[in-house]
Amino acid sequence: MTFPRAAGMALLLTASCAWAQSTIRLRARTIQPERGAAVFPPPAGADGGARRTHYILQFSSYPSPELRQELARRGVRALSYVPDSGLMVSSDSTADLQGLGAVWAGPLEARDKLNPLLATRPAPAYLVVFHPDVEMEEARALARERGFSVLENSSLLPGHLVVTGGATRLEELAASDEVSYILPASTDLAAGKPVTGCAGALTDAGIVGEYATVGNGWAKGASGAVALQYVFESLTSKVDQNTARSEIERAFRTWASNANVSFAAGGDASSARTIAILFASGAHGDGYPFDGPGGVLAHTFYPAPPNSEPLAGDMHFDGDESWRVGADTDLFSVALHEAGHALGLGHSGDPGSVMYPYYHFASGLTPDDIAGIQSLYGPSVAAPADPPASTPVQPASPTPSTPQTPSTPQTPSTPAGGKDTTPPSLSIVSPGSTIVSTSSQTISISGTASDNVGVTTVTWSTSTGSSGAASGTANWSAQAPLLVGTNVVTIRAYDAAGNSAWRSITVVRR
Ligand SMILES: [Zn+2]
Ligand SMILES: [Zn+2]
Repeated sequence: MTFPRAAGMALLLTASCAWAQSTIRLRARTIQPERGAAVFPPPAGADGGARRTHYILQFSSYPSPELRQELARRGVRALSYVPDSGLMVSSDSTADLQGLGAVWAGPLEARDKLNPLLATRPAPAYLVVFHPDVEMEEARALARERGFSVLENSSLLPGHLVVTGGATRLEELAASDEVSYILPASTDLAAGKPVTGCAGALTDAGIVGEYATVGNGWAKGASGAVALQYVFESLTSKVDQNTARSEIERAFRTWASNANVSFAAGGDASSARTIAILFASGAHGDGYPFDGPGGVLAHTFYPAPPNSEPLAGDMHFDGDESWRVGADTDLFSVALHEAGHALGLGHSGDPGSVMYPYYHFASGLTPDDIAGIQSLYGPSVAAPADPPASTPVQPASPTPSTPQTPSTPQTPSTPAGGKDTTPPSLSIVSPGSTIVSTSSQTISISGTASDNVGVTTVTWSTSTGSSGAASGTANWSAQAPLLVGTNVVTIRAYDAAGNSAWRSITVVRR
């Protein structure tokens, strides 16, 4: 497996001075424009005329809002941000780019738009991302013209199409000006199931396209470690407050146990290197309003740079969603994905991974996610099991005295005289890995479950639509059917009070 986010050691070595440079960071390659040449829009395609084309316009420094207004005045649409200092724009070939401080202009090439996983494993279908100003009717017509069939799905993100067709034609599709990126479709997408997607991580300068990488994550301290804080500014009323808090903290711990990063409760959301977490409805002051139930579930701002503080790393959840724990819309699964963005990860083309652009029920990270986060921060050096005992403090921040937020109890005890609120504890014993590859049509899963009162039921379900009861409870086993491609199999254990716990594994059937 390769990790385009990881753009190689060169990036890590130049981390300290990268921001002063004017590098174009694509997943497929890094472009270092030479200064001094005059910059013009690329010529229109072979079918010519005044048709708008899409290209990267690179500046010597971060593009300001004033610059974007001037571009709009000249008929150049700014569509998304390309780190470090570029914009994906569209214009016709006569647009005047002089006097704007632009240092380079050029289109994406087909190889910039093909996720590397397309070359290494067969995909049941392809997820094609079009530039944001392309009409979807035009997009459908283009895909058909190139020999692909369109799988209609009304729950896709704007600009997305799922298509099927010959892998040999992908390069030609990618070469089309309207296409911005192509990646393998997940099994859910290939099956036309209702899905919820992540519109991408945000920057002050806009969304970053799937073809770009964002940078190196948070700057490392002298020890090489990265210590972040988090503050809950508001929570949802749809989930018990302590549970919501602990599910989001569990997402942080999951990343921290796999990379050299730590998270500790902070007291001031406006401090540097502090992730402010909030639930909000509609417009909430950052220029990216939420859209009510369904659609966008959450969004997160990438680290600084490229974002400025105090917004960098902040995670916003749409308060209008039906947030739940252990079922859709599962707060932990979404928080795990968003925390990946808060750490600086972009999306992955691996359909089973947490960082795939469409959410799925997740109980932990996949090897793809772990390789991605370790490419930014290196492996965890702390004991993974427990949250840090003391709160690391940013020296420059107006530091609150550390609130003694208790670390999340893994197994809360029954309140005296109260209702049982302790979920069962559940383990998958076999298979011994959370991601499994097999050519078989079914998978046998077994494990253990225990509870302070008693486990009543263990069930299984798959992301490909099958479900049933496991046999046994304390020692349970289940056999789940697999479709070709990625299957996420989720096991749930319930106790008499209705508390539940779950674990899942990703099974790729070849
Ligand atoms: Zn995302
Ligand atoms: Zn927001």
